[in-house]
Order: sequence, then structure tokens, then C-alpha cells
Amino acid sequence: MKKLVSIVIPAYNEADNIFVIAESIKKVFTTINYDYELIIVDDGSADDTLEKVKNYAATADNIFFLEFSKNFGHQLAVKAGMDNAFGDCVISMDCDMQHPPEVIPEMLKKWEEGFEVVYTIRAEDTNLSKGKRNSSSMFYKILNSLSDIELEAGAADFRLLDQKVVNVFRNFHENEPFLRGLVKWLGFKQHAIRYNPAVRFSGKSKYTLKKMFRLALHGVTSFSIKPLYSAVYLGFILSFASILYIPYIIYAFVNNVEVSGWASVIMTIVFFGGLQLIILGIIGIYVGKMFMQSKNRPNYIIRSTNIPAK
Ligand code: UDP
Ligand code: MG
Repeated sequence: MKKLVSIVIPAYNEADNIFVIAESIKKVFTTINYDYELIIVDDGSADDTLEKVKNYAATADNIFFLEFSKNFGHQLAVKAGMDNAFGDCVISMDCDMQHPPEVIPEMLKKWEEGFEVVYTIRAEDTNLSKGKRNSSSMFYKILNSLSDIELEAGAADFRLLDQKVVNVFRNFHENEPFLRGLVKWLGFKQHAIRYNPAVRFSGKSKYTLKKMFRLALHGVTSFSIKPLYSAVYLGFILSFASILYIPYIIYAFVNNVEVSGWASVIMTIVFFGGLQLIILGIIGIYVGKMFMQSKNRPNYIIRSTNIPAK
């Protein structure tokens, strides 16, 4: 019997891309000896993405959809797809053709060689704007220096996971999973493939700078508590610095020197006020995460699906 490959595709306002990606995946699978199913997760799209998926699904029996009740975000869309994918391995990829389906045979080959995780690293993309490239490389630098995992720059959410690994993932109930980091953290036998990203077929990137900043902040705070230590270290350093100032004050007192400086006092107050707020904010982020997680709400809500109940 042929092995079944589940392909999970998150889609948020991707109506014009559905047909193209589905067809190109179909084409790739005519060249290899595997069965496949497509699981398209409609992440609360406002356009007719779901309509397009349903129409396509009517023409084939291996096309499935999961409709979210609203937009839950890319990471949870992939997670939902994986939770419902029962192929021998699961490949997740974007809907916009930036993750070339032609890489799939190579991923499967590595999987057959015994790697349980085959992830991809995108080669430097000259098509992307300089801003996007810089922000992406900065993202990884900050992430790696602040957290306890090592992510390669350009690691993409285009990867193959063995069913064994997907089963482990089903037990994860983080309300804001950061999949790239989690996959790295899981261990197993991992292999990286380099690929040349294509340009987005239609529509524009759903990751605004704001969303990217959120993802970065989230990536750090969900993997490490290093930022919390910054308060302790900074506290020590600054207390020590202020001790150094004491001899001067004594000197000034003894010698009747007038210590002037309204401006420097204000500057110091503002500086430390800001610093305290930043650190309070960092603590706040962690407390907020604990609060959200402790509610134990479902991480995503499925409005409709054509996946038969297992
Ligand atoms: N996506 C999603 N929910 C969102 C944002 C994005 O499901 O809230 C999907 C989107 O449809 C695409 C993938 O995530 O399939 C990657 O998004 P995008 O291409 O906009 O990101 P970029 O490639 O620019 O990083
Ligand atoms: Mg994209």
C-alpha cells in the first residue's frame, strides 16, 4: 500500500492561490509513488477562500478543509491542520507558492532515510524587500541570543514531520504555539533542506511589521525566561554604579561644594522611570501568558469541516 502524505496549508484571504497551489501539489504527486491529502485551514478569511476550497474539494476526494470561527493566526492554523492530519507524515506549507512544492520529493526522500523532522531553510531571497530581509535576520539574532534554542536564520514553516512527531504535537496545548521553536526543541532526528523561495503568487503578505514584532516577542518569551533575569542584572549593575557616586557626595559635603544639576536629576528620574516600566512590562508579558494559559480555553475553534470524524 502506498504511504499517505498529509499536506497542511493555512490560508488567510488566499482565494486566488488555492487552485494554483492545489494543482501544483497534484502535479508533484504524479511523479512520485505516494498518496496524499490536502488539509486547507481557512483562518477566518474575509474573501471567498473557503468557497474556492469547497469547490475544489467537490472535484476530488482527497481535499479537506477546516474552517475556523475567526482568525486565530498562522501558527494555530498549522497546529489545527496537524491535529487533524493522520497521514504517515505531515507536510506544512504556505498557501502563496513561496514554498515550492517541487521540494516535496526531496523531503520525502530524507524522511525515508529515517529523519523524523525535515525542515527547510530559505536561501537569501533577493526578491524580498531589504526591510523584510533585515527584519527577518534581526528576528533570528534576537531570538537566539535571548532564548535557549538555536534557530537557523531563514527557517521557514515549511516542513515534514513524521506521524510520530505529529502525535507528540497533539499533546501540546499552548495557546500561542511558536512552531519553529517547538519543532527544534522536540529533538528527534532532524534534517534541513535549503530551498529558493518563489515570489508570492497572488495577494500580499499577511505578516505586517506589527505581527512580525509580536511573533518575535512571543518567540522569545515562550522559550526562555532570560529576559526576566535582565532585571536582576541591571539592578545589580545600577546599584553598584550608584555606590560609586557616594564618595563624591561625601567629598562635596565635607568641602562645602554645591552639588548642582537639576537637569541631571530629571534625566536620571526619567531614565529609571522608563527602565522600570520596561522591566515591569517584561514581567507583565510572562504573567499575561500564565493568565491566558491558565484559563484553559480551546486554542482554536472549528466552525465547519469536511473531515470525517475519526
Ligand atoms: N496565514 C494565516 N493566518 C494569518 C496570517 C497568515 O493562516 O493570520 C497564512 C497565509 O495564508 C499563508 C501563510 O500563513 O499561507 C504565510 O503567510 P504570509 O505568506 O502572509 O507570510 P510571509 O510569507 O510574508 O511571511
Ligand atoms: Mg508568504
